[in-house]
Formats: sequence, C-alpha cells, structure tokens
Amino acid sequence: MTSSPKPGSGRRRAVRPPSDPTPAPLPGAVEAVPAFRKRAGARPLHGSAEAPRRARLMNAAQAAAFIRALAAANPAPETELHFTSPYTLLVAVALSAQATDVSVNKATATLFQDADTPAAMVALGEEGVGRHIRSIGLWKGKARNVIAMSRLLLERHGGEVPPDRAALEALPGVGRKTANVVLNVAFGEDTMAVDTHIFRLGNRTGLAPGKTPRAVEEALVKRCPPELLRDAHHWLILHGRYVCKARMPECWRCVAIASCNYGDKVRAPPPR
Ligand code: SF4
Repeated sequence: MTSSPKPGSGRRRAVRPPSDPTPAPLPGAVEAVPAFRKRAGARPLHGSAEAPRRARLMNAAQAAAFIRALAAANPAPETELHFTSPYTLLVAVALSAQATDVSVNKATATLFQDADTPAAMVALGEEGVGRHIRSIGLWKGKARNVIAMSRLLLERHGGEVPPDRAALEALPGVGRKTANVVLNVAFGEDTMAVDTHIFRLGNRTGLAPGKTPRAVEEALVKRCPPELLRDAHHWLILHGRYVCKARMPECWRCVAIASCNYGDKVRAPPPR
C-alpha cells in the first residue's frame, strides 16, 4: 500500500490513528509526573505550543532515527481529514485552521454533499456554506474565504486546484501550511506542513528547533531522511496529536524515546 495518493487521485482518506504501544514505563523515562500537573487548571508543561522549551539539538543520526522510529510504527500514515478530490482537500485544510480534524470532517460531510466543486460552492454562496460550518471556529471568515477561493479557482485555473505554491498561496485563506498539505497529499510533493503540533515537537525534542514555523519547516526538510520526507509531516502531526501532547508528553509509550532530547521525560502515571 502506498502511503500517499497518486497525484489528483482524490482517494478518500480514512481515520488512521498511530500505533498505540502498551503503556509501560520505559528505561529512558526519567521523571515522574508531579501531582500538580494532573490537576485541572495546572500550568502547562514546558514545551506547550505557546512556549516551547527547546531541547539540545539532536545530531543527524538521532534525527534520522527519530523519524525512522515513527515510520516503523505507522508505515502508511494518512491525513485524518476527509476529502474526495484536490478541491475538497483544499477546502478541508483551509477550514481546519484552529479547528480539530474531527469537527471539520463533521462539517464537510454535509457541505460536500451540497457542493464539492468550485462552481457548486459559488452557487451555494457564503450563507449556504456558513450553514454547514457554523460549528467550526472562525466560521464566518472561513465561509467568505471558501467562496472567494472558489471564484478565483474558476477565474484563473478553470476550476482546478493548481499544483503550484505561488498560485495556491494567492488564494484567499490559503497560507504556506495549507499549500504544503495540498502539494504533499494531492500532488505528491516532498513538502513539510508545520502546524502547532510539529512546531512544538520540533522544539521540545531537539529534532528541529526554530523560532518560527518556517524555521522549523526548513530544519525538518534538511534533517529528515529524503526517502521519508513525503510522509514525515503525517508522522510528526500524529505523534504530536496523540503521544507528544502539548500539556503532557506521554513519553512512557513513545516509540522514539531513545532519540529524543527532551529533558523532562514523563513516566506512566501510577494506576488508580
Ligand atoms: S513523547 Fe516524550 S520521549 Fe517522545 S518525543 Fe515527546 S518528549 Fe520525546
């Protein structure tokens, strides 16, 4: 099974959580979870998305081993957003800013029934789009952008999603991260889309420290084994979402713990 769709294939992606090893204490996990960390309202740990604490930079061998460990645990990673074409992927990714993939999938399940092409979306109109996506954060601006983006696709690209970064980033509501996801997933390019999870992970672990998402992106592209680059953003996003979480990394079940330079690795909480 290939890990990404053929360019423009529009294969619908299913939810695929990463592997979930048995949560047992690991020898490399060195520090217990202080009790206050587990109380409601406790301070976020160092390394949260807002204030990532940087770890010592991994050396090249460690960085490669880190990515390889994630790859071995989940050989066929996939985006968790549902889509059926490059256009519906573009819309789904644009809607996912500051929203969970689950909430976006819920909204697009009905939105794409009414409109899954730029022409149908323009016909549906801003109000019509808004009716489907009200449960998503910033929905008014996103509805406006989806319509404006669809209009531009019709005017400039014959209703097709262009496989070109500059053309994508010229669309309303499309930034570098969205363009990177579309270029990677729909067109098979070796891009690295840095979201909040990857930004945190790059800094927390020493894999790719950087002050900005762009700096982390460039460091990851340089440090990732070339043959793994195409799927690396999936592995890193899933790892940050489900294991190396913002408030408390679950180091006791981390498959990449042997390569990680995070200084406050967390043991499994005691059974209740
Ligand atoms: S879960 Fe822990 S050991 Fe794994 S990458 Fe994150 S900080 Fe490192």
